[in-house]
Amino acid sequence: MPELPEVEHLRRSVDPWLCGAEITAVEVRRADVVCVANLDAQTPASQHAPTPLDLPQLLGRGSSVLATDRHGKQMAMRLSSGSILIVQLGMTGTLRLERTDQQLDHTESKHRHVVWTLRRGSHATAPKTALQDGWRLSFRDPRRFGGITVLNSEEALSKHWGVLGPDALSVGGAALAAALSSTKRPIKAALLDQGVLAGVGNIYADEALFRAGIHPLRAANALQRREASTLARHIRAILAKAVVQGGSTLRDYRDAFGASGSARQSHAVYGRGGQPCLVCEETLGQITVTARTTVFCPRCQP
Ligand SMILES: [Zn+2]
Repeated sequence: MPELPEVEHLRRSVDPWLCGAEITAVEVRRADVVCVANLDAQTPASQHAPTPLDLPQLLGRGSSVLATDRHGKQMAMRLSSGSILIVQLGMTGTLRLERTDQQLDHTESKHRHVVWTLRRGSHATAPKTALQDGWRLSFRDPRRFGGITVLNSEEALSKHWGVLGPDALSVGGAALAAALSSTKRPIKAALLDQGVLAGVGNIYADEALFRAGIHPLRAANALQRREASTLARHIRAILAKAVVQGGSTLRDYRDAFGASGSARQSHAVYGRGGQPCLVCEETLGQITVTARTTVFCPRCQP
């Protein structure tokens, strides 16, 4: 399942090709991956979109891409029309970029649910020589747990991301302490709750708690301010390293050009239950917290 590092790695790989590019066509092959259900609520009654919805237009046909963004595991594309497209990768989703003249075999082609055709705009950041005849961006998702959500304003985006906690890649000590102060649940469970902190998956939670020396069953709101700062620092560092490496949770992760992540990150505790702690050689404990396997060192994380 793509975690924050895979999503951010993907965002960075597509960003130079999207920013400034003009969307000349949008092909929607499976309309059920596109969510526009809340559009009426976002739009004043006088401006309700005509039915049936013009999905290619809602998805950016005739607009250019202004910027990409991310919060937790969600990526956003800001369009010149004012719309914002949220891309959620779910279990198996990804974005692919390739030349428009590149032929795809049936297997490669069949799970591409939305395909944007792009060309270099006057403000494009992509290198002039590459892909100059145009390129396409595909949202591919064999299991279809992901999808594209269309929002029509910055306010709608603030609302959409407002239900999530602070972004884990940039969370500071004070913000993490504030987020954790609202819950008595075990710290491990709180870290996995996207409403408390956006973007920390099981592996990164275990690794960060180990490095910070915090027992996974400590009550989240019992952490000292200093401990929250230490934990935030380790979360940021672990995620930042994983972003550069293209993530570490997926054996088959590919960036937008089909290249695999550069290296699997080595884990100090994740997947090592019953083995000796790399720091103190105590046997690592393994417990279950909110149905997720949790590995920790009883001595380093009292
Ligand atoms: Zn230890």
